[in-house]
Amino acid sequence: MSIQPIQQKSTIPPEKLNAVETSARIFNSPEAAAVKEEFCAVGRKLWLRKYVDGNGGNLSCRIGPNHVLCTPTRVSKYDLTPEDISLTDLEGEQLAGTQPRTSEILLHMEIYKTVPEAKAVVHCHPPYATACAITGRVPPNLVLPEFELFVGKVAMAPYETPGTRAFAETVRPFVKQHNTVLLANHGVVCWADTVTHAEWLVEVLEFYCQTLALAAQMGAPIAHLSAEHLSELLAIKKTLGLPDPRINAATQETLAAGGPGAYGS
Ligand SMILES: [Zn+2]
Repeated sequence: MSIQPIQQKSTIPPEKLNAVETSARIFNSPEAAAVKEEFCAVGRKLWLRKYVDGNGGNLSCRIGPNHVLCTPTRVSKYDLTPEDISLTDLEGEQLAGTQPRTSEILLHMEIYKTVPEAKAVVHCHPPYATACAITGRVPPNLVLPEFELFVGKVAMAPYETPGTRAFAETVRPFVKQHNTVLLANHGVVCWADTVTHAEWLVEVLEFYCQTLALAAQMGAPIAHLSAEHLSELLAIKKTLGLPDPRINAATQETLAAGGPGAYGS
Protein backbone atom coordinates (compact mmCIF):
# COMPACT_ATOMS: atom_id res chain seq x y z
CA MET A 1 0.00 0.00 0.00
CA SER A 2 1.41 3.36 -0.94
CA ILE A 3 0.74 6.45 1.09
CA GLN A 4 -0.10 9.51 -0.98
CA PRO A 5 1.70 12.62 0.21
CA ILE A 6 -0.66 15.31 1.39
CA GLN A 7 -0.78 18.10 -1.18
CA GLN A 8 -0.20 21.39 0.64
CA LYS A 9 -2.37 24.01 -1.00
CA SER A 10 -1.05 27.57 -1.05
CA THR A 11 -3.25 29.93 0.94
CA ILE A 12 -1.87 32.96 -0.93
CA PRO A 13 -4.30 34.12 -3.64
CA PRO A 14 -2.79 34.00 -7.17
CA GLU A 15 -2.96 37.80 -7.69
CA LYS A 16 -1.02 38.32 -4.45
CA LEU A 17 1.50 35.70 -5.53
CA ASN A 18 1.95 37.60 -8.78
CA ALA A 19 2.50 40.84 -6.88
CA VAL A 20 5.14 39.17 -4.68
CA GLU A 21 6.93 37.80 -7.76
CA THR A 22 6.80 41.20 -9.49
CA SER A 23 8.24 42.92 -6.40
CA ALA A 24 11.04 40.36 -6.15
CA ARG A 25 11.83 40.71 -9.87
CA ILE A 26 11.97 44.53 -9.62
CA PHE A 27 13.93 44.49 -6.35
CA ASN A 28 16.57 42.14 -7.80
CA SER A 29 16.78 43.76 -11.26
CA PRO A 30 20.01 45.30 -12.63
CA GLU A 31 18.22 48.67 -12.66
CA ALA A 32 17.50 48.38 -8.91
CA ALA A 33 21.10 47.31 -8.27
CA ALA A 34 22.33 50.50 -9.96
CA VAL A 35 19.96 52.67 -7.89
CA LYS A 36 21.04 50.94 -4.65
CA GLU A 37 24.69 51.77 -5.47
CA GLU A 38 23.67 55.35 -6.31
CA PHE A 39 21.92 55.64 -2.90
CA CYS A 40 25.17 54.63 -1.18
CA ALA A 41 27.25 57.17 -3.14
CA VAL A 42 24.73 59.98 -2.58
CA GLY A 43 24.30 59.04 1.09
CA ARG A 44 28.04 59.35 1.62
CA LYS A 45 28.07 62.74 -0.12
CA LEU A 46 25.28 63.99 2.14
CA TRP A 47 27.12 62.84 5.25
CA LEU A 48 30.53 64.20 4.16
CA ARG A 49 28.95 67.56 3.33
CA LYS A 50 27.26 67.58 6.78
CA TYR A 51 23.78 67.70 5.27
CA VAL A 52 22.61 64.86 7.56
CA ASP A 53 22.96 64.28 11.29
CA GLY A 54 22.86 60.95 13.14
CA ASN A 55 20.58 58.72 11.11
CA GLY A 56 18.81 61.76 9.61
CA GLY A 57 17.88 62.22 5.97
CA ASN A 58 16.39 59.78 3.48
CA LEU A 59 16.50 58.95 -0.23
CA SER A 60 14.05 57.29 -2.58
CA CYS A 61 13.70 56.47 -6.26
CA ARG A 62 10.59 55.48 -8.17
CA ILE A 63 11.51 52.37 -10.11
CA GLY A 64 8.08 51.36 -11.44
CA PRO A 65 4.49 52.68 -11.56
CA ASN A 66 3.86 51.44 -8.00
CA HIS A 67 7.37 50.59 -6.80
CA VAL A 68 9.81 52.81 -4.90
CA LEU A 69 13.28 51.98 -3.58
CA CYS A 70 14.18 53.78 -0.36
CA THR A 71 16.77 54.02 2.40
CA PRO A 72 16.21 52.34 5.79
CA THR A 73 15.39 53.93 9.11
CA ARG A 74 18.10 54.29 11.77
CA VAL A 75 21.13 53.92 9.49
CA SER A 76 23.69 56.72 8.99
CA LYS A 77 23.81 57.78 5.34
CA TYR A 78 27.60 57.30 5.50
CA ASP A 79 27.18 53.60 6.38
CA LEU A 80 24.58 52.69 3.76
CA THR A 81 25.11 49.43 1.85
CA PRO A 82 23.02 48.11 -1.09
CA GLU A 83 21.67 45.39 1.25
CA ASP A 84 20.08 48.09 3.46
CA ILE A 85 17.76 49.34 0.72
CA SER A 86 14.10 48.31 0.70
CA LEU A 87 11.23 48.36 -1.79
CA THR A 88 7.78 49.80 -1.03
CA ASP A 89 4.58 50.48 -2.91
CA LEU A 90 3.19 54.01 -3.40
CA GLU A 91 1.39 53.77 -0.05
CA GLY A 92 4.69 53.13 1.73
CA GLU A 93 3.98 49.42 2.40
CA GLN A 94 7.27 47.53 2.41
CA LEU A 95 7.41 44.87 -0.31
CA ALA A 96 11.04 43.71 -0.14
CA GLY A 97 14.27 44.26 1.79
CA THR A 98 15.51 43.16 5.20
CA GLN A 99 15.79 46.61 6.82
CA PRO A 100 12.65 48.58 7.80
CA ARG A 101 12.07 51.44 5.35
CA THR A 102 12.54 55.09 6.34
CA SER A 103 9.89 56.49 8.67
CA GLU A 104 9.57 59.54 6.38
CA ILE A 105 8.44 57.52 3.35
CA LEU A 106 5.02 59.25 3.27
CA LEU A 107 6.72 62.57 2.46
CA HIS A 108 8.33 60.96 -0.59
CA MET A 109 5.05 59.29 -1.65
CA GLU A 110 3.19 62.58 -1.48
CA ILE A 111 5.66 63.99 -4.01
CA TYR A 112 5.47 60.98 -6.36
CA LYS A 113 1.66 61.08 -6.30
CA THR A 114 1.51 64.84 -6.91
CA VAL A 115 4.30 65.16 -9.50
CA PRO A 116 4.44 62.32 -12.07
CA GLU A 117 7.78 63.57 -13.45
CA ALA A 118 9.42 63.23 -10.01
CA LYS A 119 11.55 60.06 -10.13
CA ALA A 120 13.75 60.62 -7.08
CA VAL A 121 13.48 62.44 -3.75
CA VAL A 122 16.15 63.55 -1.28
CA HIS A 123 15.31 64.82 2.20
CA CYS A 124 18.01 66.13 4.56
CA HIS A 125 18.96 68.83 7.08
CA PRO A 126 21.72 71.05 5.60
CA PRO A 127 22.54 73.76 8.19
CA TYR A 128 22.28 76.97 6.13
CA ALA A 129 19.08 75.96 4.37
CA THR A 130 17.69 74.68 7.67
CA ALA A 131 18.61 78.04 9.24
CA CYS A 132 16.26 79.59 6.65
CA ALA A 133 13.63 76.97 7.55
CA ILE A 134 13.78 77.84 11.28
CA THR A 135 13.63 81.59 10.70
CA GLY A 136 10.84 81.41 8.12
CA ARG A 137 13.05 83.09 5.52
CA VAL A 138 12.74 81.88 1.96
CA PRO A 139 16.00 82.80 0.19
CA PRO A 140 15.45 85.70 -2.24
CA ASN A 141 15.81 85.19 -5.99
CA LEU A 142 17.91 87.03 -8.59
CA VAL A 143 21.26 86.89 -6.83
CA LEU A 144 23.20 84.00 -8.46
CA PRO A 145 22.52 82.52 -11.94
CA GLU A 146 23.18 78.87 -10.92
CA PHE A 147 20.41 79.07 -8.34
CA GLU A 148 17.93 80.49 -10.87
CA LEU A 149 18.86 77.80 -13.40
CA PHE A 150 18.68 74.70 -11.25
CA VAL A 151 16.44 75.57 -8.31
CA GLY A 152 14.48 78.72 -9.13
CA LYS A 153 11.88 79.70 -6.59
CA VAL A 154 11.85 77.85 -3.26
CA ALA A 155 8.71 77.24 -1.21
CA MET A 156 8.29 76.92 2.57
CA ALA A 157 5.99 74.18 3.88
CA PRO A 158 4.52 74.63 7.38
CA TYR A 159 5.70 72.54 10.33
CA GLU A 160 4.10 69.22 11.25
CA THR A 161 5.51 66.32 13.27
CA PRO A 162 7.98 64.36 11.07
CA GLY A 163 6.86 60.94 9.90
CA THR A 164 3.13 61.71 10.11
CA ARG A 165 0.67 61.88 7.22
CA ALA A 166 -0.02 65.52 8.14
CA PHE A 167 3.71 66.25 7.74
CA ALA A 168 3.79 64.55 4.32
CA GLU A 169 0.76 66.55 3.16
CA THR A 170 2.40 69.90 3.97
CA VAL A 171 4.40 69.76 0.71
CA ARG A 172 1.46 68.91 -1.56
CA PRO A 173 0.53 72.54 -2.47
CA PHE A 174 4.11 73.34 -3.49
CA VAL A 175 5.84 70.43 -5.20
CA LYS A 176 4.20 70.81 -8.61
CA GLN A 177 5.69 74.31 -8.94
CA HIS A 178 8.87 73.83 -6.88
CA ASN A 179 11.56 71.13 -7.06
CA THR A 180 12.94 72.39 -3.73
CA VAL A 181 10.87 72.96 -0.59
CA LEU A 182 12.04 74.16 2.81
CA LEU A 183 10.31 72.32 5.65
CA ALA A 184 9.67 74.77 8.51
CA ASN A 185 11.70 73.94 11.65
CA HIS A 186 13.01 70.78 10.02
CA GLY A 187 15.05 70.78 6.77
CA VAL A 188 14.63 70.52 3.03
CA VAL A 189 13.20 68.17 0.41
CA CYS A 190 14.12 68.13 -3.31
CA TRP A 191 12.87 66.04 -6.23
CA ALA A 192 14.43 65.39 -9.65
CA ASP A 193 14.81 62.75 -12.36
CA THR A 194 17.59 60.91 -10.47
CA VAL A 195 18.81 60.72 -6.87
CA THR A 196 22.11 62.28 -7.94
CA HIS A 197 20.32 65.25 -9.50
CA ALA A 198 18.04 65.69 -6.47
CA GLU A 199 21.19 65.85 -4.30
CA TRP A 200 22.62 68.49 -6.65
CA LEU A 201 19.58 70.65 -5.92
CA VAL A 202 20.31 70.34 -2.19
CA GLU A 203 23.92 71.39 -2.88
CA VAL A 204 22.88 74.41 -4.97
CA LEU A 205 20.38 75.51 -2.32
CA GLU A 206 22.78 75.05 0.59
CA PHE A 207 25.61 76.84 -1.22
CA TYR A 208 23.24 79.71 -2.02
CA CYS A 209 21.98 80.02 1.57
CA GLN A 210 25.57 79.93 2.87
CA THR A 211 26.73 82.59 0.38
CA LEU A 212 23.79 84.85 1.29
CA ALA A 213 24.62 84.42 5.00
CA LEU A 214 28.26 85.40 4.34
CA ALA A 215 27.21 88.41 2.24
CA ALA A 216 24.87 89.56 5.01
CA GLN A 217 27.88 89.78 7.35
CA MET A 218 29.68 92.21 5.02
CA GLY A 219 27.33 95.06 5.74
CA ALA A 220 27.04 96.05 2.07
CA PRO A 221 23.86 95.70 0.00
CA ILE A 222 23.55 92.63 -2.25
CA ALA A 223 23.49 93.37 -6.01
CA HIS A 224 20.57 91.75 -7.81
CA LEU A 225 20.18 90.41 -11.35
CA SER A 226 17.84 92.41 -13.58
CA ALA A 227 14.57 91.30 -15.25
CA GLU A 228 16.53 91.04 -18.54
CA HIS A 229 19.08 88.79 -16.87
CA LEU A 230 16.26 86.61 -15.59
CA SER A 231 14.61 86.30 -19.00
CA GLU A 232 17.97 85.24 -20.48
CA LEU A 233 18.36 82.61 -17.76
CA LEU A 234 14.79 81.37 -18.28
CA ALA A 235 15.52 81.03 -22.02
CA ILE A 236 18.55 78.86 -21.17
CA LYS A 237 16.40 76.87 -18.76
CA LYS A 238 13.84 76.26 -21.48
CA THR A 239 16.60 75.06 -23.85
CA LEU A 240 17.91 72.68 -21.19
CA GLY A 241 14.39 71.34 -20.59
CA LEU A 242 14.40 72.49 -16.96
CA PRO A 243 10.87 73.36 -15.82
CA ASP A 244 10.19 76.71 -14.13
CA PRO A 245 6.73 78.23 -13.59
CA ARG A 246 8.21 81.61 -14.45
CA ILE A 247 8.76 80.40 -18.05
CA ASN A 248 5.03 79.69 -18.44
CA ALA A 249 4.14 82.95 -16.71
CA ALA A 250 6.33 84.90 -19.18
CA THR A 251 4.79 83.04 -22.15
CA GLN A 252 1.25 83.66 -20.89
CA GLU A 253 1.97 87.35 -20.36
CA THR A 254 3.24 87.64 -23.93
CA LEU A 255 0.27 85.75 -25.35
CA ALA A 256 -2.15 87.88 -23.29
CA ALA A 257 -0.50 90.96 -24.80
CA GLY A 258 -1.22 89.56 -28.29
CA GLY A 259 2.43 88.98 -29.20
CA PRO A 260 4.14 85.79 -30.35
CA GLY A 261 5.21 83.25 -27.74
CA ALA A 262 8.37 84.52 -26.02
CA TYR A 263 10.16 81.23 -26.54
CA GLY A 264 8.77 80.09 -29.88
CA SER A 265 6.84 76.89 -30.36
ZN1 LIG B 1 14.09 65.03 8.51
